[in-house]
Amino acid sequence: MSDIRDGAFGREDGDSRTPNHMAELGSENYEQDFALDLIRNEQETLGEIAAALGRIEAGTYGQCEGCLEEGTTGRKSLIPKTRLNAIPWARNCVECERKRETQYT
Ligand SMILES: [Zn+2]
Repeated sequence: MSDIRDGAFGREDGDSRTPNHMAELGSENYEQDFALDLIRNEQETLGEIAAALGRIEAGTYGQCEGCLEEGTTGRKSLIPKTRLNAIPWARNCVECERKRETQYT
């Protein structure tokens, strides 16, 4: 009797495990994609950080590249501290970033 019950329950478990397993597979793929995106973003971020370190060496860190290109120098080309706190490797002030985004899209 207990064998039959175990068998029945076992089969039930097996049946209910199949869709669960499929869902797990799906989430694994999703997590993999997510991880790849993270790595891609990390590599981009690392590139930006390296560029920022270069700007520190060059003494132009914290200055907006867009403003500098337009000939704006000194205090007017400085990226606001609040923006640098959020994105320490920011190349542009918000205004120039917006201009760049509208240019490239
Ligand atoms: Zn700017």
